[in-house]
Amino acid sequence: MTDFIAMTIDGRAAEAPNRLEVRNPADGQVFAAVPDAGAAELDLAIQAATRALPAWRAKPWAERQALVARIGETISTHAEELIRLLTREQGKPTEQARFEVLGAAQWCAAVATMVEPIEVIEDTAAHRVETRHVPIGVVGAISPWNFPVMLSIWKIAPAILAGNTMVLKPSPFTPLAVLRLGELLRDVLPPGVVNVITGGDALGPLMTGHPGFGKISFTGSTATGRRVMASAAPTLKRVTLELGGNDPAVVFPDVDVRTTAEQLFWSAFTNSGQVCVATKRAYVHDEIYDDMLNALAEVAAAVRMGDGREQGSVLGPVQNKPQYDRVRALIEDSRQNGHRVIEAGAAPEGEGYFIPVTLVDNPPEDARIVQEEQFGPVLPLLRFTDEEDVIARANATEYGLAATVWTADEARARRLADRIEAGSVWINEALAISPFAAFGGHKQSGVGVENGLGGLLEFTNPKTVTMKRA
Ligand code: NAD
Repeated sequence: MTDFIAMTIDGRAAEAPNRLEVRNPADGQVFAAVPDAGAAELDLAIQAATRALPAWRAKPWAERQALVARIGETISTHAEELIRLLTREQGKPTEQARFEVLGAAQWCAAVATMVEPIEVIEDTAAHRVETRHVPIGVVGAISPWNFPVMLSIWKIAPAILAGNTMVLKPSPFTPLAVLRLGELLRDVLPPGVVNVITGGDALGPLMTGHPGFGKISFTGSTATGRRVMASAAPTLKRVTLELGGNDPAVVFPDVDVRTTAEQLFWSAFTNSGQVCVATKRAYVHDEIYDDMLNALAEVAAAVRMGDGREQGSVLGPVQNKPQYDRVRALIEDSRQNGHRVIEAGAAPEGEGYFIPVTLVDNPPEDARIVQEEQFGPVLPLLRFTDEEDVIARANATEYGLAATVWTADEARARRLADRIEAGSVWINEALAISPFAAFGGHKQSGVGVENGLGGLLEFTNPKTVTMKRA
C-alpha cells in the first residue's frame, strides 16, 4: 500500500504539483509518496511563517514554554504511529525508533524548562545596561536521514521557544515521520509557526539562498554544509551547521576488554553506524588489540541485523542506496588494498540495503576507511602504543565532532580530553548527549552548537539596551 502525507503550510495541508517516492531500505521498495515542493511552495511557507512571526514573538516566554511542552506531550500521545513510520522509512529497529521518538518528546519537555536569557550588566542609580536575546525571525531548518525526528526537534523546540517561526525540510529519504509531526503540530501551534515542506535535491539550495530566512539551521554532511554557508553569505544569514565527523575512540590497556568491547561496539554500530557521533576509528592499545578485535567480532556475531519491523532485529539496513554504495565502495577499497577485512556479522539477503558488520584490521593511517567518514556498519581498528602518538593521530583530521576515551586512569582520561580536538569527549561511555549541554563540531564538523543555553542563543540576536538614569 502506498501512503501519502501532505505538507503543513499555514496550519493546513499543502500539496505540490509533483511527488517524490519514499523507499523502505529493508526491501528497497517504494511504499509512500510525499510532495516535491519547489520555489512556489517554499514562498508560501515563508510567507506563512512571516505572517505568524509578530504575534508569536510577542507571546510571553511562559506561553511559548507551555506550547513547547505540549509538543512533547503530543509526540508521546502519537508515539506508536510515529515509531511505525520512522522504522519503515529509516530502517532502524522498532525499539530504537521508540527511543528516538520518546527521546524527542523528552527533549521538548527539557527545552520547555529553559528560562529567558537576559543578562543584567549594570543596574545602578546611574545606569541600567541589559543584554536581551531576541528572536532572529524566520528560520529555515534542514535535517538529515539518520535521526529525522530527533534532529528536527533539536531545531523546532529552541527556535520557537526563542520566538522565531520556522520552515522545516526533512531529508527526502526520510520525510514521513516529520511530515506527520507537522500534521500533529497543526493542533498545537498557531498557523504558520512551524511549516513542514518536502522536496528533492533542488529544495535545500532554494531555502539557503532565500532572502526570507534570517537563519539557517542545518544538520547534514560537511560537503553540503560548505554549500549552505556559501549560499547563506549574500544575505548574511546566521547559520548553525551540525556536520560530519570521523570520531576516534582511544582504548587503553587498563580496561576490561569484554565490557569495553560491548560498549565500543554500540558506540560504533548503533543505527548501523549512521550516527554523526559514532566511533568511526578505534585506536586500541597494542597490549589488548588482538583481544579487543576478537571480542568485537564476538559481539557482532551475536547481534541480529534485519528488517527493523521484525522482532529481534537490533541493527537495520543502511538507509539509502547512495549511502549503501558508498559504504560498500569503502569496504571494497580496503580489500583492494590488501587490508584484512573481517565480515563479523550476518545480514539478510535480498533487495534491502544491508551490509554486515565489518571490521578492518589495522589498515594504514592514510587508508580511505580511516580518513573518510564511513557512516555505515564498518569500523577500522588501529594499533597504538604511545599516548602522544595516538593523540596526534586522533587529531589528524579535518573533522572535530566527538571522541571517546576508554581507561581506568582518570588523570590520563583528562589529559586526552584536554587535547583531543572535538566538540564532545566522552570518557568510558558514548553517545551521552543532553538537552542541557552544548553539542557541536570543531574544525570542519560544524559552526555553532545545538542544545543547552548555547543552542538556544543560536536562535537569537543579542540586543543590548542601555538606559541612563537621571
Ligand atoms: P546531506 O548533507 O546529504 O543532507 C542533509 C540535508 O541537506 C538533507 O535534508 C538534504 O536534502 C539537504 N541538502 C542536500 N543538498 C543541499 C544543499 N545544497 N543545500 C541545502 N540543503 C541540502 O547529509 P545526510 O546524508 O542526510 O546525513 C548524513 C550526514 O549528516 C553525515 O555526514 C553525518 O555525520 C551528518 N550528521 C551530523 C549531525 C550533527 O549533529 N553534527 C547529526 C546527524 C548527521
